Amino acid sequence: MIAGQPLATWTRRYPLLEELMALRETTWFTPTRAPLADGLSDLALSAADVADASARLERFAAYFRVAFPETLANNGILESPIQPLPALQAVLASRYGQALPGALWIKQDSHLPISGSIKARGGIYEVLKHAERLALEAGLLRLDQDYSVLDSPEARALFSHYRIAVGSTGNLGLSIGLMGARLGFQVTVHMSADARQWKKDKLRAHGVNVMEYASDYSIAVVQGRQQASADPACHFVDDENSTDLFLGYAVAAERLSRQLQQAGVRVDAQHPLFVYLPCGVGGGPGGVAFGLKLAFGDAVHCIFAEPTHSPCMLLGVHTGLHDEVSVQDFGIDNLTAADGLAVGRASGFVGRAMQRLIEGYYTVSDDELHALVWLMAKHQQLHLEPSAVAGVPGIARVHAQRDQYLRRSGMSAEAYARATHLVWATGGSMVPDTEMQAYLAQGARVLQGS
Ligand SMILES: *Cc1c(COP(=O)(O)O)cnc(C)c1O
Repeated sequence: MIAGQPLATWTRRYPLLEELMALRETTWFTPTRAPLADGLSDLALSAADVADASARLERFAAYFRVAFPETLANNGILESPIQPLPALQAVLASRYGQALPGALWIKQDSHLPISGSIKARGGIYEVLKHAERLALEAGLLRLDQDYSVLDSPEARALFSHYRIAVGSTGNLGLSIGLMGARLGFQVTVHMSADARQWKKDKLRAHGVNVMEYASDYSIAVVQGRQQASADPACHFVDDENSTDLFLGYAVAAERLSRQLQQAGVRVDAQHPLFVYLPCGVGGGPGGVAFGLKLAFGDAVHCIFAEPTHSPCMLLGVHTGLHDEVSVQDFGIDNLTAADGLAVGRASGFVGRAMQRLIEGYYTVSDDELHALVWLMAKHQQLHLEPSAVAGVPGIARVHAQRDQYLRRSGMSAEAYARATHLVWATGGSMVPDTEMQAYLAQGARVLQGS
C-alpha cells in the first residue's frame, strides 16, 4: 500500500509511474501553463522577501572581502559567471539526433566561491542570516556598520557559544560547515551514506563535527533535526522546509538578469529563456525558479532535472502526493552518482508552492550524466560533477516535444527559434582531481559503448 492505495491503483491512474519504476529516462511537461499571478500566489513569499535577502548579502560583502579574499575580485559578492556553449550545443544536436535551435548557455554555480556548488547560495545565506541576528542582539553589530567586524575575535567568541546542525548528502554540509566554522560556530553535519569521503575530510580539517550514517539523506536529516531540537543553542538548517535557504537561492535571478543584459542577451516574450535546473530535495532549483519568475515573468520557462534513480520531485508533483511518498515506496532505489540529487523524498513545501510555476520535469540516467561530464570537459573545457550536468539534455527534451510545448505555452515558432537555453551547472570545481578523473573515465566508457 502507498498512501492508502495499492500500487496498481497508482500506476493505473498515472501510467508515467511505470516509466519511472522501470528507470527509463522520462520527460513530463505539466498540461497547462498557469497564469503567473496564480502561480506566485501559491507562495507565502514575495519579491520583498527576495529583496531583503539580497540586501543582507550586500551588507555581508564587506565581511567576505576580509574573511575570504578570493571574493575580492567580485567585491565580496558570491556569484558565478555565465557563458555560451556553442561547441557542446553542436555535439548535443548530433548526440540526440535533432537540430537544436536557439542558443545554449551555462550558469557556472560549479564555480561559486567557498564551497563550489549551488549550496553556496542558500546554505551560506542561512548561516549569515543567523549570525547577523545573534550579532545584532548581542550589540556587536549595527545594520549600518561595516560587517568586517564579524571577522574578529569578539565575534568568534560570541558565535562559539552557538551550534549549527544540518543533514546533508554532502554539498549543503560543505557550505554550512565551511561558512559556520569560519564565523566561529560549532557545526555538526549529519552525512548520509552516499556522501563523498573528501567532503567529510575537508569538513573535519576545518573543525566541523561530521556524523556519518549508513542510511540515506532523509534519515540523516531526521537525526540532525532530532539532536538539534533538544538543544536551544542549536540552529538546525532544515533543507526540507527552510524558507531562508529558498530565499538565498532566489537572489541568483536578479544577478543573472544583469549578467544576461551585459552579455547582450534579451529576455522577453519574443526571446524566451529556458532554464534547466538539477533537482534534489527541491530548495535550490525551487528558490532559483521563484527568483526567475519574479525577474522575468512568463518569459522564463523553468524545467527540473533528476536522476532516473531519484525522481522524487517528478513523482511527488505528478501524483500530487508530494512529500507523502518516497521513490523507495515505488521500488526505486535512490542510488545515483549524482551526489546532490540522491534524494528519495521531495521537500514538503517546494513542490506544493512551485508546481504551478514549473513547466516540467525530466530524468537522466547515470550513464548519460557521466557521458555529459566527459563531453562538457572535452568540448568546453569545463569540469563539472555528474549532478551538475543534469540540465544539459533539457534543450533536447523540449525540442523533442516542440509542437506540444509551443501549444501548451502559446509560444510562437519564431520566438522559440530565438530562445536562450540556460544549463544551471550546480557543482564541481572543488571535486578532487582523482575523483574527476574517475568521472571522466566512466564517461569515456559510456561513450565507447554507445
Ligand atoms: C543540492 C544540489 C542540487 C539540488 O538542490 P536541492 O535543493 O537539493 O534540490 C543540485 N546540484 C548539486 C550539485 C547539489 O549539491
